[in-house]
Amino acid sequence: MEEILPNFLKNRASLTPNKEAIVFNKNRLTFQELYEKAYYTAGVLAAEGITKGDYVAFLVKNDLRTVITLLSLHLLGARAVLLNNRLTANELLYQIKDSNSLFLIADDDFQLTAEDVLRNSSSLKVIFKKELDTKPFQKPVVQETVHINDTCTIMYTSGTTGFPKGVIQTYGNHWWSAVGNVLNAGLTDKDVWLCTVPIFHISGYSILMRSLMYGMKVILHESFDEKRVLTDLVQEKITIMSVVTAMLQRIEKAAMGAFPDYFRYMLLGGGPASIDLISSCMNKGIPVYYSYGMTETSSQIVTLPPEDAARKIGSAGKPLFPAQLKILDEKGKELGANEAGEIVVFGPNVSKGYLNKGPHSVDGWFHTGDIGYKDSEGFLYVLDRRSDLIISGGENIYPAEIESVLSSITGIKEAGVVGMDDRKWGQVPIAFVVCEEGTEIPAAQILEVCKRKLASYKLPKEIRFIEALPRNASKKIVRRTLREWIK
Ligand code: ATP
Ligand code: MG
Repeated sequence: MEEILPNFLKNRASLTPNKEAIVFNKNRLTFQELYEKAYYTAGVLAAEGITKGDYVAFLVKNDLRTVITLLSLHLLGARAVLLNNRLTANELLYQIKDSNSLFLIADDDFQLTAEDVLRNSSSLKVIFKKELDTKPFQKPVVQETVHINDTCTIMYTSGTTGFPKGVIQTYGNHWWSAVGNVLNAGLTDKDVWLCTVPIFHISGYSILMRSLMYGMKVILHESFDEKRVLTDLVQEKITIMSVVTAMLQRIEKAAMGAFPDYFRYMLLGGGPASIDLISSCMNKGIPVYYSYGMTETSSQIVTLPPEDAARKIGSAGKPLFPAQLKILDEKGKELGANEAGEIVVFGPNVSKGYLNKGPHSVDGWFHTGDIGYKDSEGFLYVLDRRSDLIISGGENIYPAEIESVLSSITGIKEAGVVGMDDRKWGQVPIAFVVCEEGTEIPAAQILEVCKRKLASYKLPKEIRFIEALPRNASKKIVRRTLREWIK
């Protein structure tokens, strides 16, 4: 019985019914109101034929209706398949079929894409979000409890290194992720979390789960806009915000005066962040929790709190309380301090496996495919993805390190580095550089800077200037494509 938890939303509505749960534009809902709306929507979806265990795909934007509908699935015990709304119809179709979704809940904005998907999937039933107000209602069977091993959500990985994989996230995974976060960062009765990241990603969805478990208010934005962030920071007295590197860069640039003292932290994750950015934030008094995680760990699993930020700059920190981490060599032997190898993680927030692919390990330790090392105090430094490692004359080169040097050069907007086959060295690094609009920088000048900051074997053997880097729907650089360009 210890594996049974009360229904998250229903329990929260009964504990703190009158507390504000969510604010979107001018609309504000308490937990009780959120529950009532989710209950109504559950009834509409039940009348449409959705029942316990069904997979329901979502092609949606961030708004109140999305939140209500997602939570209505908790009441029905149905599973949400969260699709990235930047994917093409073909990519969506793959994920809908892979997950065996019988229903697709779509925003009006994606009507054309949804119709495209529908043409190639005759068994799929599409429900547009706006129809949820007018469709018939039938009393839903509400799941009073959830089993921690019940599937709550399916989220596909970003597809940065290969084909996206459907990660099975259980109620237990979300629960433990929220517990791990709060044991690390604490909770105050004033906490308000700003969500400008997509709810279809774990970064956004995890904020909704924390809101229910902590009884905490969420301010939801449809998308990221730094001016609005800075306004709401004061107006809504926001204390926590989730960001990726590009967002934090923009906030740091736009922030004029001091940050309000009630602001507790930026939860920064999703990819590498430069030391320059973290130190400029520190100088401006913007507290940052730098973190490491992935879809498979249901949000961050390793986090560096601000108190260690100056001392351990560049590190992603230590595992959250419920989690464990080790660094393994290719043979599976555990490595010691300062030795780089594959990051392998374990914990109740770690997904047990991918849809249709079975468990990803026999012993529960998840091999992340990322390379990193722990220092002598156990702080993790993430180097790069294993599949992108460049081995040149027997030396390991991490593209992220070279990219970070290149991006720090004034006039360079972004850079991507990959290995090219080389007769003498095995592989050599090649850099793709995007300059700021209207700027031209001679390759020799770029190399000069690199020479000052990088060992000679890491110097790009060639610099190619391009208009834009190939990025996936999660806006991550797809180095696979850069490698294809070289060929
Ligand atoms: P796919 O698994 O399909 O290739 P993906 O790994 O990009 O896609 P996500 O789950 O969105 O999908 O991203 C997780 C990855 O992001 C991590 O495995 C890691 O490579 C990268 N990442 C996350 N946090 C950090 C960090 N702090 N530093 C460096 N890389 C990070
Ligand atoms: Mg991955």
